[in-house]
Amino acid sequence: MQGNSSAPPVVMTGTVVWFDSRKGYGFVAADCVGSYKGERCGKPIPRGSDACPICGAGVVEVFVHYSALSGPPGRRNLNQDQRVEFERVVGPKGPMAHAVKICLPEGK
Ligand SMILES: [Zn+2]
Repeated sequence: MQGNSSAPPVVMTGTVVWFDSRKGYGFVAADCVGSYKGERCGKPIPRGSDACPICGAGVVEVFVHYSALSGPPGRRNLNQDQRVEFERVVGPKGPMAHAVKICLPEGK
């Protein structure tokens, strides 16, 4: 499981925990990285929980800098609870999101 810093990025989905457009950064909670009945769990974790309600895996929060967002400068923003897809990369201070894309709402 443990990779090194040159491992290829992992594409993940997650939910915006918060994003401060004035500070230009925030955090995204990745969908569950645990496993359930032998398969990857992958369930979105409800905001405010610190572990997956299905499999009990801990929440992985990933730092997001506005430069990782797509769109023209000045219009890069995320909203709380927005669903996003991103590449998880390891930066100097730990996991961070890269190439963040906003997911369209499903079924609505
Ligand atoms: Zn889970």
